[in-house]
Amino acid sequence: MSVNGHSHPKKARKDMSPNVIVVLGAQWGDEGKGKVVDMLACTADIVCRCQGGNNAGHTVVVNGNEYDLHILPSGVVNKNCTSVIGNGVVINLPQFFEEVKKNEEKGLADVKGRVFISNRAHIVFDFHQAVDGLQEIAKGKKSIGTTKKGIGPTYSSKASRSGVRLADLLGDFSLFEEKFRQLSKSYMHQHPDLEVNIDEEVKKYKDYAERMAPFVADTVSYLHEAIAAGKKIVVEGANAALLDIDFGTYPYVTSSNCTVGGACTGLGIPPTTIKEIYGVVKAYCTRVGDGPFPTELYDGLGEILQTRGAEIGVTTKRKRRCGWLDAVLLRYSHMINGYTAIAITKLDILDTFDEIKIGVAYHLNGKRLLTPPACSSEMEKVEVEYITVPGWKTCTEQVRKFGELPQNARNYITTIEELVDVKVKWIGVGKDRSSMIEVF
Ligand code: GDP
Repeated sequence: MSVNGHSHPKKARKDMSPNVIVVLGAQWGDEGKGKVVDMLACTADIVCRCQGGNNAGHTVVVNGNEYDLHILPSGVVNKNCTSVIGNGVVINLPQFFEEVKKNEEKGLADVKGRVFISNRAHIVFDFHQAVDGLQEIAKGKKSIGTTKKGIGPTYSSKASRSGVRLADLLGDFSLFEEKFRQLSKSYMHQHPDLEVNIDEEVKKYKDYAERMAPFVADTVSYLHEAIAAGKKIVVEGANAALLDIDFGTYPYVTSSNCTVGGACTGLGIPPTTIKEIYGVVKAYCTRVGDGPFPTELYDGLGEILQTRGAEIGVTTKRKRRCGWLDAVLLRYSHMINGYTAIAITKLDILDTFDEIKIGVAYHLNGKRLLTPPACSSEMEKVEVEYITVPGWKTCTEQVRKFGELPQNARNYITTIEELVDVKVKWIGVGKDRSSMIEVF
């Protein structure tokens, strides 16, 4: 298989049997996607990222080595797995090299020759990151709570057709320089507080062009050949459904499509190549940063979820807001993504509760809603209708078979299945890789 795109397209299309597995966050992120992707990545030939940037993140522990991954797909910890960072991803080059270096120092095998980044991926420049911070300050109390990694401004450059891609960096450098100068100047014009030493930066990028060359590829052709060859491909979603730029709680969202469509547009693969779409659902709800959160708990119960669940952001180190599971949002998330099954993680965190609530409908202006309102200001005002189910008050951490879970825990799972109309395939009952129940 070639990564330079010279293969004949007809050959690649011959047998496009669906063999792509997509794993998506079904709520507001931090659902524990990492563990599910890891599990699937162990046997995958290729693991891909299709959207977002290094604003996502998780820790993968293998043989006692703890790898911190933000832009690298989790398949990278498996030496025999190829990692693809697709065209839909935006990438900051200094931070890419830093992430590679830090993880290689911790024991990660050399990534050259097994990590490929799309030549169509847009570059996150340092001024994009500076602008991200300036924009958040300017919004004051209405700030979105972004990770200030420059992701939003880079997607803005992409949408306004002034962005710079890896293909520009590796092509005629004088054209790259021209685009870079133009983009920097326009940002400095819009943000008088922003200073960019353009000559310095151009020099740096001359060097990056050389260092990036082994990593940049025509990943569209590469993936098409891989699909035709029957390779097992896993797409690792970053962020989550309710942070999707179109379907999330706009404007408190990320700047890409983290729902299933993003897997196709962010990699250049047809929807018909997708075999499974797994949604990852935390047994309760958390949210980092600002924005509406109807089932949020402001009392001691929220604190118990926060402490027991160690709900602190990997990338941001911010405490996550916690609340009950919201079936209104899950149904909506399932409507958009069409999950073939879901994984419920962190069931063990609910082990000590006397009773557990699930949000089943919203009430707004005398109306009962079964889907969330589009407007964040309305979403802030909804009253949640709950059902209450009894807790199981038993430690589930050692359980590995569905039938061995306490009856009330099984009831909690089947209630979710009924409310959302989707099957639960896995249940997470602990931090460990092995703390997982495979239901079917
Ligand atoms: P992601 O952002 O969705 O990829 O979430 P992470 O992979 O970072 O997971 C968040 C945290 O939850 C990690 O520290 C995981 O070890 C932990 N975790 C995942 N599944 C479970 C589970 O079933 N039980 C417990 N207690 N922790 C879990």
